[in-house]
Amino acid sequence: MSEGTPSMGKRNRKMVHIRCRRCGRNSFHWRKRYCSACGFGRSKRLRRYSWVNKTKDSV
Ligand SMILES: [Zn+2]
Repeated sequence: MSEGTPSMGKRNRKMVHIRCRRCGRNSFHWRKRYCSACGFGRSKRLRRYSWVNKTKDSV
């Protein structure tokens, strides 16, 4: 078997990221207990970087 795009079909095995209740994205790592998108559970401040250009409120 080959790795790569065909192996992406096995991605629904274990749930790692659940819906974050602060940013609403499906990025809350429920085993690590923090959100990979906004940093909820890791820090009190929002996880925001200049190289992330996805939020609309990035003034
Ligand atoms: Zn979040």
